[in-house]
Amino acid sequence: MMPPRESVVDRFLRYVRIDTQSREGESTTPSTETQWTLARMLAEELRELGAEDVRVSEFCMVYATVPSNVTDDDGAVPVIGLLAHVDTSPALTGANVKPVIHRDYRGGDIVLPGDPSQRLTTEQNPLLATLVGDDIITTDGTTLLGSDDKAGVATIMTLVDLLARNTGIPHGTIRIGFTADEEIGVGIDKFDVEAFGAQFAYTVDGGELGEISDETWSARLATVTFSGKSTHPGTAKGVMVNAIHGLADFLTRLPNDMLPETTEGRVGFVHPYGGVMDVEESSAKVLLRDFDMSGLEAKEALLRTLAEETARACPGVRVRVEVKEQYRNMKEVLRHHPELTENALEAARRAGVAPFTRPVRGGTDGSKLTFRGLPCPNIFTGGHNFHGKLEFNSRRGLEKTTETLLHLVQIFVERASRAAEHSIAGVP
Ligand SMILES: [Zn+2]
Repeated sequence: MMPPRESVVDRFLRYVRIDTQSREGESTTPSTETQWTLARMLAEELRELGAEDVRVSEFCMVYATVPSNVTDDDGAVPVIGLLAHVDTSPALTGANVKPVIHRDYRGGDIVLPGDPSQRLTTEQNPLLATLVGDDIITTDGTTLLGSDDKAGVATIMTLVDLLARNTGIPHGTIRIGFTADEEIGVGIDKFDVEAFGAQFAYTVDGGELGEISDETWSARLATVTFSGKSTHPGTAKGVMVNAIHGLADFLTRLPNDMLPETTEGRVGFVHPYGGVMDVEESSAKVLLRDFDMSGLEAKEALLRTLAEETARACPGVRVRVEVKEQYRNMKEVLRHHPELTENALEAARRAGVAPFTRPVRGGTDGSKLTFRGLPCPNIFTGGHNFHGKLEFNSRRGLEKTTETLLHLVQIFVERASRAAEHSIAGVP
């Protein structure tokens, strides 16, 4: 096989140096001008690599097509989408990222050169033990790395590069999508699923090598509001009703074993994460998370019961609970397309990675896309410690992710032709 024009590591190092931090609270998509720089650059590079229909939308979404090279591909091979996001987390600066390569890692802690207080310790990162001999890529300790999700961008771009140089590798039509503002949760709403025109897609936005996710939270946001009665405190006796006490009473009723700080794995939570306190009106915003709809319903019911108990315990305080759906577990849809997960697992295996599925304790762009008619599991990128200064990836992480994508597109061709053989064999 011919190597790519540019190695996935070099590509990655080039992309992470471009500031694409997104920002909360903006009314435009993209939320920051800087995201255009990378989006336009990717469009240009896609054209150079021979991709077709390349365009950047008014919302900074990059679309492109790698046409099928399967002769007589009359629609038997599904059109597959591959997606990654260009933006990085608003939590930490994405400007002046200085990637550092720790070649031939020998084990032990890694001290980041720009800020020696930033240490990747084997104690907190037991996975480092699996990376001995690999080249680990970190920052200098002063910024995030942006492997989330420039690892996804770089691996997809390298796939396009490889397919252009190795035309003998069979693949169906591949649609490429690079999206903006994933980290603030709104960009994907501006993604044109219909124009994208894929039957299935994968976000390449996961973590640990081998991790495939076809399951996310089902998520609701509850706003619990307590109303009281404000008066001058000097003449408040018998008149004032302080809503703050209602809020405080309510918060202490939330079960201790049902919080994000006390749960893990498949166990859902309720999470009060913000609110306002005033005598007249106090409220809490509470995230409700569960993998099962019945569990989510139970959490909402519990919240309503606790709110009523507070109303009874705090005379004069009135309470109101509003609940909004945020996103749903993609598994509800993906269970009808088990081949998507199976193909990804098989692709990873062929790349020499031991694959596994792990539910995401969060949402992905794929959760929204899946419910908009584009079933979309998530594939690993080899990245770790997202959204922080200790974020890292590795040469093997990037290379194995690219290899997995390369196998994935071929597996879809194989399975389509196998299905065709079966149907021919079935004709009497
Ligand atoms: Zn991401």
